[in-house]
Amino acid sequence: MSMDKIVALCKRRGFLFPSSEIYGGLNGFWDYGPLGVELKRNVKEAWWKDMVSGHDELTQIEGTPASFQMVGLDCSIIMHPQVWKCSGHYDLFHDYMVDCKESKKRYRHDQLRGRWLKAKEQSVFISSQTGGEEGLEETQTRALKFLGMRNKQVGDLEWESGMVSLLTVKDFSVVLAPDATQLGTLTEPREFNLMFKTFVGALAGEEGAAFLRPETAQGIFVNFKNVVDSTRVKTPFGIAQIGKSFRNEITPRNFTFRSREFEQMEIEFFCHPNQSQAWYKWWRDRRYQWYTNLGLSPERLILREHEPSELSHYSCGTADIEYAFPFLPQGEFGELEGIAHRADFDLRSHQEGKLVKDGETLIVENGADGKPRHKGSGKDLQYFDDRVRERYWPHVIEPSAGADRGTLAFLCEAYAEEPVEGGEVRTVMRFHPRIAPVKAAIFPLVNREGMPEKAKELYRSLKGDFGVQYDDGGAIGRRYRRQDEAGTPVCITIDGQTMTDNTVTWRDRDSLQQIRVPFGEIETRLRSLLKP
Ligand code: ATP
Repeated sequence: MSMDKIVALCKRRGFLFPSSEIYGGLNGFWDYGPLGVELKRNVKEAWWKDMVSGHDELTQIEGTPASFQMVGLDCSIIMHPQVWKCSGHYDLFHDYMVDCKESKKRYRHDQLRGRWLKAKEQSVFISSQTGGEEGLEETQTRALKFLGMRNKQVGDLEWESGMVSLLTVKDFSVVLAPDATQLGTLTEPREFNLMFKTFVGALAGEEGAAFLRPETAQGIFVNFKNVVDSTRVKTPFGIAQIGKSFRNEITPRNFTFRSREFEQMEIEFFCHPNQSQAWYKWWRDRRYQWYTNLGLSPERLILREHEPSELSHYSCGTADIEYAFPFLPQGEFGELEGIAHRADFDLRSHQEGKLVKDGETLIVENGADGKPRHKGSGKDLQYFDDRVRERYWPHVIEPSAGADRGTLAFLCEAYAEEPVEGGEVRTVMRFHPRIAPVKAAIFPLVNREGMPEKAKELYRSLKGDFGVQYDDGGAIGRRYRRQDEAGTPVCITIDGQTMTDNTVTWRDRDSLQQIRVPFGEIETRLRSLLKP
């Protein structure tokens, strides 16, 4: 399915718009339109209901009965700057970028790829921002241009390799950057911290410097003690948060997939270290199932365990849930969510401080081992289990999802085109009813004979409980098409027969079946559609 068509539908129907569009937009920022805001809210509400307010407390881990509690938080976006020093973001949350001196464009070092070409007695690296077939074609076109050859001479190109990452290239003087005409215009890779910096209050100097949070998780860790002290939660338990995060991504792209402002849905699940591996597996599987329950197809969704070499030093396991987005080359997947076993790393760091990266001079305190550390809070963040009188550092399992990436996956999955009678093509968004922006559309067949009055009465009676729309504009076929593009699961039409026997036409978005349903059954039917 082509991404261009999905992007066009999102604009046409009001799912997504570029931010500040009348001023030319701002790269990496997006606005959700009237349908998009409902879709994304439904995704977040389904998550909150399934993971927090309505989750089933009784479960099993590795065949043993278990139970757990979940509570929520809503923390501030700007936090004490020390939070980011102890979390590691201040020192380590960076990507490497390379700048092109010719085009003035900036790229992520790890995202550029290319092919080696034999040209003018030397090996030249022709780079590209895309992989797969597209990348091959792009490098071919650029190689021809670079050597001043014609299209029909393509067979004369002497490729020395397939597509490889720029990370494998040591000498940049032989690289042709993606938007350059000469070799050797890329700078050496430089670190670029992804946190947005701002200044709090009237202080413009470093004392007032603060950061917009790059993840919601840290708000949960620093409130761990507050939650334990103010509620009756006992391990194992989870704390959840949904909220905006900000990352100054070097190359935002692929629609909302990589944005600079986005929303996360994160859980920190605290448990006894003896049980953490079992809970890790439980959460990994539960989170995968959540996406398939809401309609993502298992053929396009994978659960990928990280290789030991990919794991952070403290992690005992990380898995990504990845989706085959249409903008990715065939066979590639993009991350929707990461589920990480973080052991006791975060709580410990916020209590004891964190080792400073080698070679930096920052405000630090010497730790017990004599090494420089970012100063921790010094507060006791251990957990005391009064049931067994045991004090310990809980282990943490962190399922961390992106609300925008999830929403984008649901949009891509839902998009379908199918031939209908008369040789026409119907575009339909097959959202799961729980996340569909509009649950039912209500139409009077014609604008007379009491039908609009009856339709409006039905509309008003449902509106308090369901997202419904009233539409009396144009031919009924056109109205159906509009609702198909919005992904509305049901259209309910008040017609001539309604006026005599009090039944309506109930039209199903997917099967296109039309049946007669008594007025009194409408609400129950809608309710059962929306059950998890
Ligand atoms: P990536 O490797 O794609 O940059 P990440 O591994 O840095 O992602 P995490 O730090 O694990 O991502 O963040 C958790 C989730 O937050 C991701 O799985 C994703 O859904 C979402 N997310 C992260 N960065 C972005 C972004 N720039 N735009 C939209 N969503 C994002």
